[in-house]
Amino acid sequence: MGAVSGRQGDGDPRMTAQLAAEILRGARRGVALTGAGISAESGIPTFRGEGGLWTKYDPVKVASIDTFLADPAAYWRVARDRGSVALAARPNPGHIALVAMEAAGHLAAVVTQNTDGLHQASGSKRVIELHGSGRTVECLECGRREPRADVQARLDVEMPPKCRSCGGTMLKPTVVLFGEAMPVAAVTEAFELARQADVVLVVGTSLVVHPAAEIPLEAVSSGARMIVVNAEPTPFDRFAEVVIHGRSGEVLPEIARLTDG
Ligand code: NAD
Repeated sequence: MGAVSGRQGDGDPRMTAQLAAEILRGARRGVALTGAGISAESGIPTFRGEGGLWTKYDPVKVASIDTFLADPAAYWRVARDRGSVALAARPNPGHIALVAMEAAGHLAAVVTQNTDGLHQASGSKRVIELHGSGRTVECLECGRREPRADVQARLDVEMPPKCRSCGGTMLKPTVVLFGEAMPVAAVTEAFELARQADVVLVVGTSLVVHPAAEIPLEAVSSGARMIVVNAEPTPFDRFAEVVIHGRSGEVLPEIARLTDG
C-alpha cells in the first residue's frame, strides 16, 4: 500500500483500511464512483496524475467533438493506439474487489467515468457509465452500431474507418467527447443513487471533471459517509471520513477482505 492519510488511523495503513471496512460493513446502499485511476493497474493510462496522458497531449483537443467532426482521421490516428491498449486490458484486483463488495450487499452500484468496460468484464452487475462506452462505435450518418474491436481491426487499412452499411466516414466511439452532452438517463440514475446512498466510495478519480465530481458531494449532503481511495489528494478529500492515498489494486482488495473477514 502506498502513502496513506486518514481522518482516523493516521499514518497506519492497516488501521485506515480497517476503518474503511467498518464503514462499508454497515453499508446497504453503497455507491462506488470510479475514474481512470482504477484501470491504471490494468495498463490503461489516466488523463491526469503521474504518467497521465495529459503530459503527452491535450485531451480536450484530441478528444473533442469539434476535432472529430472536422477531421475523423486525425481523431482515429490518436484513438487507434489508446483503443488497442484498452481492448487488450483485463480487470485488475481493484475492479474485482468492487464485485465482491456488490455481491456481499454493501454496494448497490458502480458509477464510472471510465469507458473501458472493465467493471462489466470483472462481473459488476449494476454499472452506470457516465461517459459512455468505448467498446462500441456508431455511424453518425446512418446510426449503425458495431463493436469497437471490429473497427479497430481495419484501422491499418482504412483511415478514417468507413461504415459497413452506408459507407460514411463519421464512425464515432459511443463515448462522450469533450463538448458533447452527457447521457441524461445515466446522470439522473447516478445522482438518484447518490441521494439514496449510505456510503460513497470514491476510487481513482481526480474529481475535477463535472458533473461526476459532484456525485460524492450529493451523497454526503444526503447523509452518506465518504471513503476516498486515490493515488493523490483530491479537491474533496476533506469531506471524507477515510482517505487512503494508494493504489486501488492493492487498497480495495484489502478493504474487501477486512469488510467480510
Ligand atoms: P483522471 O485521469 O483525471 O484522474 C485519475 C486519478 O487516478 C488521479 O488523481 C490519479 O492520482 C489517480 N490514480 C492513478 N493511478 C491510480 C491507482 N493505481 N490507484 C488509485 N488511483 C490512481 O481521471 P478521471 O477523474 O476519471 O477523469 C478523466 C476523464 O477521462 C474521465 O471522464 C474518463 O472518462 C476519461 N478517461 C477514461 C479512461 C478509462 O476508461 N480507463 C482512461 C483515461 C481517461
